Amino acid sequence: MADTSPNDQGPGYVSKKCHSCYTYVPLDATVCPYCKVRLGKVGDHGMADKLTDWKAYVSFAVAFVIFLVFIIYAFF
Ligand SMILES: [Zn+2]
Repeated sequence: MADTSPNDQGPGYVSKKCHSCYTYVPLDATVCPYCKVRLGKVGDHGMADKLTDWKAYVSFAVAFVIFLVFIIYAFF
């Protein structure tokens, strides 16, 4: 009568799927070994969650501000 139900540890997945290249990677992997994209925890349907790339958001914001300053400087 050992309690070995698969629901003991979360959803019961043994691997997760990379959201970028769709290969199976280990459940505890934080980076895809094939395409090097960052992976989150396993989510719905065994897919790895996408992580927010804050560096990309910040670099976009800085570049957009520089662009606006240039437009104001050049045309007004
Ligand atoms: Zn991948």
